Amino acid sequence: MVDFTRHWDVLVIGGGNAALCAAITARRCGASVLIAEAAPKFYRGGNTRHTRNMRCAHDGATDTLTGPYSEQEFWDDLKRVTEGNTDEALARQMIRLSKEMLPWIGQQGVKFQPSLGGTLSLGRTNSFFLGGGRSMLNALYRTAERIGVETLYDAPVVGIKVGEGRFQSATIDHGGARHELTAAAVVAASGGFEANIEWLREYWGKAADNFLIRGTPYNRGSVLRMLLDGGAEQVGDPTQCHAVAIDARAPKFDGGIITRLDCVVFGIVVNQLALRFYDEGEDLWPKRYAIWGRLVAAQPDQIAYIIFDATSLRLFMPSLYPPLTAPSVGELADKLGLDRVALERTVTEFNSAVRGGTFDHTILDDCHTQGLTPPKSHWARRIEIAPFFAYPVRPGITFTYLGVRIDAEARIILKTGEPARNMFAAGEIMAGNVLGRGYAAGIGMTIGSVFGRIAGAGAGNNARN
Ligand SMILES: Cc1cc2nc3c(=O)[nH]c(=O)nc-3n(C[C@H](O)[C@H](O)[C@H](O)COP(=O)(O)OP(=O)(O)OC[C@H]3O[C@@H](n4cnc5c(N)ncnc54)[C@H](O)[C@@H]3O)c2cc1C
Repeated sequence: MVDFTRHWDVLVIGGGNAALCAAITARRCGASVLIAEAAPKFYRGGNTRHTRNMRCAHDGATDTLTGPYSEQEFWDDLKRVTEGNTDEALARQMIRLSKEMLPWIGQQGVKFQPSLGGTLSLGRTNSFFLGGGRSMLNALYRTAERIGVETLYDAPVVGIKVGEGRFQSATIDHGGARHELTAAAVVAASGGFEANIEWLREYWGKAADNFLIRGTPYNRGSVLRMLLDGGAEQVGDPTQCHAVAIDARAPKFDGGIITRLDCVVFGIVVNQLALRFYDEGEDLWPKRYAIWGRLVAAQPDQIAYIIFDATSLRLFMPSLYPPLTAPSVGELADKLGLDRVALERTVTEFNSAVRGGTFDHTILDDCHTQGLTPPKSHWARRIEIAPFFAYPVRPGITFTYLGVRIDAEARIILKTGEPARNMFAAGEIMAGNVLGRGYAAGIGMTIGSVFGRIAGAGAGNNARN
């Protein structure tokens, strides 16, 4: 039972990767540390529970990585995916420190495994957690508990008092009562606002009602809102987020990785009018998977259908749900509730535009369409071998980028331009400093780990001094 009258050195808000990295580091600085996690114990750890891997720079192959990934290459990748919308100094600092993360995370009890196969091909750049994100989190929690970090579950922070640029206290809702808790320093690691549909609606309008949230329902952005209202400077574009196409039958929240669909490149994608709307073969899937959430979000009723035939059924990792199937394209349209004539026309037009080549989905092959708008630039094969299949897809929001601005010490920058002396942030809540737009697989965990450690050290040392 936590003593609410105690004055803590460090209060960490949130219970995911960023929070744990901060809490462990602060405790190792000698600080007393309390984690306030909104979720009950079973659901602890937010979106981190769903992760599989993280991207870190490293000098050579290891037991689980197939080769080196230099700081320069990491930077080039980040610059390309964000189109330069990143704070270069912070991003380069993160990349440099990411080199220390694999050994550090390993020392906290987390184990790695060789890359899982699949369409993303990350064996050289990304380290996969043995047992996935939940197992990784459990290891961090065990370490935190062993060294004396205390954790309060079912304990959302519902108020933050800031005065003269300093954190003073937080109000925590726990056990049917409100408790005011003081600490010498605070680390905000409470995720983005992706689970707050009303907030998403401010930027996306009614379309937001049809978004599915791939992760935790607890990341409602309440702490982010309190910090922004309390004088923290905002960073990032509120409409930017990581969003992929996921199975439309997925639950509203927490569907996780098994609802993602990576078979776009093997077929065509049509909207509710049975019309194609984007080049399904534009580039290799790892470079394009994260645009499909936004593309589907722009379609009528935010729904689309991936259509393919028997030739492609075994070429990709299926979703949790089986595809819908029918012996003809017309009957498939009936099952999907699409106009039969319109879908048959779209497939016929596509088929007659296909220019055959040598199909190879691991390279930019020469199978493409001619005279079709939009084109399919690679992996175009006729959809003609029964049975025919379809997956309905909706936008699946992974996490939002709007956040608080921080400095190199992970201190929250105030609207006055000054850094707050005892307020730090790590993880999704400050991801917009590094990710102005775009995404490179595995970088969410890099942001949380690196800035979590920096924030924990800052908060721990601040409190002890
Ligand atoms: C399906 C899925 C798969 C993913 N796969 C990967 C991957 O393989 N690699 C990768 O790098 N990234 C991946 N990501 C992104 C990754 O999960 C995040 O970038 C990362 O986990 C963020 O860590 P965090 O600690 O900032 O947030 P979270 O892990 O989401 O933790 C936030 C915590 O704050 C708590 N909280 C929220 N509000 C409050 C409040 N008011 N008071 C107290 N606590 C609060 C939540 O309960 C939660 O515990 C994936 C995301 C999803 C959804």
